Amino acid sequence: MNHYMKNNNIQIGRLYIVATPIGNYSDISQRALNTLKKVNFILAEDTRKTGLLLNYFHIKKKLYSYYEYNEKKNTTKFLEKINKGYNVALVSDAGTPLINDPGYRMIKLCREKYLNIRIISIPGPCSAIVALSISGLPTNRFCYEGFLSNKKSKRIKRLYELKSEYRTIILYESTHRLLKCLYDIKNIFGKKRYIVIARELTKKWENIHGDYISNLIKWIKLDLNQIKGEIVLIISGYKKSNNIKDKISSKIKKTFFSLKKELALKKAINITANIYSIKKNLLYKFYLKNKD
Ligand code: SAM
Repeated sequence: MNHYMKNNNIQIGRLYIVATPIGNYSDISQRALNTLKKVNFILAEDTRKTGLLLNYFHIKKKLYSYYEYNEKKNTTKFLEKINKGYNVALVSDAGTPLINDPGYRMIKLCREKYLNIRIISIPGPCSAIVALSISGLPTNRFCYEGFLSNKKSKRIKRLYELKSEYRTIILYESTHRLLKCLYDIKNIFGKKRYIVIARELTKKWENIHGDYISNLIKWIKLDLNQIKGEIVLIISGYKKSNNIKDKISSKIKKTFFSLKKELALKKAINITANIYSIKKNLLYKFYLKNKD
């Protein structure tokens, strides 16, 4: 069968965004297999890894590498091919392409410039959603943050921005940075945040463990094997506390009491409230409760 699709005499192709398993090959969908068999070629984040998957399912297909560092150079080249009538599948190493994986540039350009190309999703696993769905934390509203920066200053800044996020937060993290990341979360979010570590989902050593952050850190330190492999962190959203003490962080306390030593109460309250954008009234109530 000719792979070209005729539409008003324009030859157009299809771009299939194909999700693949995140650990267990049996999770591949029948539609994904059919698509990988029928396309003209496959764009893969890592041709070796996708080669293993194709071998397992006895699929022989031409693979081209398409990943972060050649995305910019190759996107137009591949889109031109699809525009001429080739049917192409895009896959990443595991899970859903574009979710912290290559492909965004291609879809964006397609939607802006290559309007004849049909983009077809072949859905399947995504570790973020798999982890969230079995975490036991609220699933009705959530936000996906991908990986935090490996630069400490950027990571800290982002965590401060997320501190009062009400929705459940999904993060990806690598084994070797996990403890550092948990310490940062503890310092910024406080000890009382509940976090679920979802490790090696759908694989032999799959493990889901949730606890308050201080306990979680202790648990990991007892056995570092707990954080080997691939990890998704699910963090419970911010809950407003009615306890004044919870609203005044140790940093605010320190600033306030240092100022209070040098200045009149009213001035110390005004300055502290301005610095941390908190209500003066709250600080005053805190002072009354803690002045002794
Ligand atoms: N697009 C992928 C998806 O849909 O799951 C995510 C790609 S991202 C580059 C890779 C990260 O996803 C890993 O570092 C880990 O945080 C998470 N991840 C992927 N597979 C996982 C698994 N089986 N168990 C836990 N986390 C996983």
